Amino acid sequence: MNTFKKPIPLVNLATQQKRIRHKIDEAIARVLDHGMYIMGPEVSKLEQDLAKFTGAKHVITCSNGTDALLLALMAKNLQPGQAVLLPSFTFSATAEAVAYLGAIPYFVDVCSRTFNLDISSLKLAYQEAHEQGYDVAGLISVDLFGQPCDYDAIETWRRQKNIWLICDAAQSLGSTYRGKSIGSIGDITTTSFYPAKPLGCYGDGGAVFTDDNQLASIMRSLRVHGEGSNKYDNVRVGMNARLDTIQAAILLEKLNVFPDEILQRQALANAYQEHLPSMVVTPWCPDDRTSTWAQYTIMVPDGCRGDIQRGLSEQGIGTCVYYPIPLHKQLAYRHYPRVSQMTNCMRLAENVLSLPIALDSSIAVDVAGALNDTLKHMANA
Ligand SMILES: *Cc1c(COP(=O)(O)O)cnc(C)c1O
Repeated sequence: MNTFKKPIPLVNLATQQKRIRHKIDEAIARVLDHGMYIMGPEVSKLEQDLAKFTGAKHVITCSNGTDALLLALMAKNLQPGQAVLLPSFTFSATAEAVAYLGAIPYFVDVCSRTFNLDISSLKLAYQEAHEQGYDVAGLISVDLFGQPCDYDAIETWRRQKNIWLICDAAQSLGSTYRGKSIGSIGDITTTSFYPAKPLGCYGDGGAVFTDDNQLASIMRSLRVHGEGSNKYDNVRVGMNARLDTIQAAILLEKLNVFPDEILQRQALANAYQEHLPSMVVTPWCPDDRTSTWAQYTIMVPDGCRGDIQRGLSEQGIGTCVYYPIPLHKQLAYRHYPRVSQMTNCMRLAENVLSLPIALDSSIAVDVAGALNDTLKHMANA
């Protein structure tokens, strides 16, 4: 047992904070000095910097990743009763935003190697939805655990079907697909700055990205109560979905070091790949894309996950199961329609395990060692 070693938490936000703490303190102090807590100058500076970072023409920051999805769906004029295709293996917010607007999430299966939307399941879902009489308005793709979906295939298909594409990039800001930055694909991309996401603030935050001038101006309006020329001129029903100036100030400092952190996260993924035992399946990221590794998620042998998690926990290593129950099986969502085959989704929910992420690739050796010990222990038990 490695009880003499330092515990390794699932996420370690403290290391990063230590590196830039003085800058964050100064940034927060500047906001306290100028006092423009709502829509202060840091908010528009962050939007400009994020546009530069992703190549998106318009960036509109907002209150969180769920509201980012709502803004995007409202801008695409999603109507009650319309259906939206989306993966069942994702965080609930993806489906929640659709259901919240009175529309119908239609669940699709994912690919067992990339954890992302399976193209053949997507096509089948569309066909089945059509036969069942659903009006399919669009599609939400999710870049799960940081890895971009197969966007060329998705784009070609959805243009043929004439449906819109919203990319839920809550976990994949900073990733790339065939040289394109996440944020520059689809009609609208949404992201989250929840603290544990690859680019996180110290509270809730989010953003939407688009190249479309009209969608951008609608989302800007929706963010502040459907404002027209000002807040007291209301041209549509919107919401209060602004990002706090203090969070924008923190994010500006974090964005400065983000490219460097992406490299460190990749180095950790490489080290995991090298050191983890062959008993587990390591994640596969195709050569034409990069991941920011929001999570490093492995597949463990059938029926072993509980014991492995316990063994690692006893050695101070934090793990988590993202996600134990696919959305089409959740109480809140199981009455919604889905594609007829959900085989991959169900297997993933039973066997995935996410390992610690840190800005320090040396933890991979310790985690691999602890995993080896655990597997040996289980074999002898
Ligand atoms: C985190 C997350 C969201 C929601 O973001 P919040 O900022 O927590 O509202 C949406 N979709 C996915 C895939 C997420 O991981």
